[in-house]
Amino acid sequence: MALQEIAPGVFVETEHLGSNNSIVSTRDGLVLIDSPHRPTDAMRWRRTAAAMGEVAFLINTDHHIDHTMGNYFLPGTVVSHEITRDRLVNHAPSKAYVEDLITVIDPEGLPLIRDYQVRPPTVTFVERMALDVGGLRFDLTHRPGHTPNSIYIELKSLGVLFSGDLFCEIGLPAFVEAHVYEWLEAARFLGTVDAEWIIPGHGKVSRPRDVAVFRQKMEDLIGQVADGIAAGEPRDVLAERIRFEDLIHISTGGSPSYPDHLIELFQHKSIEAIYDQTIERQCT
Ligand SMILES: [Zn+2]
Repeated sequence: MALQEIAPGVFVETEHLGSNNSIVSTRDGLVLIDSPHRPTDAMRWRRTAAAMGEVAFLINTDHHIDHTMGNYFLPGTVVSHEITRDRLVNHAPSKAYVEDLITVIDPEGLPLIRDYQVRPPTVTFVERMALDVGGLRFDLTHRPGHTPNSIYIELKSLGVLFSGDLFCEIGLPAFVEAHVYEWLEAARFLGTVDAEWIIPGHGKVSRPRDVAVFRQKMEDLIGQVADGIAAGEPRDVLAERIRFEDLIHISTGGSPSYPDHLIELFQHKSIEAIYDQTIERQCT
């Protein structure tokens, strides 16, 4: 594992399978951003945090399991968008899904999830929220894209922005629940922000200018789907044919990869989502 301190008191771990995980140290405790996916990583992360202080807040950038599963293992008040809470309270993945997944990606972590329960946010917001903790101000902003409830977090005094999966340096994440065209707008916006560093949802710590590469990958994929639509290819044929490189769900930091059938499912559903929203856009 490679914990980097990218600004005074801002620590980022980019080698967990699942989301990047950050710890911001303030005078009044720690603010964590996204929690580890694998239970063994989450337990280690808990110890890393404990060595720095008490966890005051834990912010989730979306509801996906790779950003929220570790909430269960960590202390602190969980904060996120109100739809993130709704998704985790009312539509969480089944116990069987979670166990099957952990069996593959973290077999040693299985005993840790015997009593596992989703730990949803208890403090939520709709458009924006400011958290002032120990002399640092965290600006949380709702920006639909990767999910309807995606948020990004700015730590303006330190020139740091946490983008969640609105930007992934490592490559494209799933479009399964995406607002595809709003996401493109969000990526355009993130490329222009006045920040020294962008901490992506997955991949290396980046600069705002690096978002252009990611945006181009999105545009290329959307373009492939649009070309297929223009050529009259049906939805199911396109969803079978078009594939993009998935570097999000594969072995990271020595962990195993996601099972192939899930990677395939994400791809399939991603192309369908892009197809549906491209058709919808052409009709309006
Ligand atoms: Zn993610």
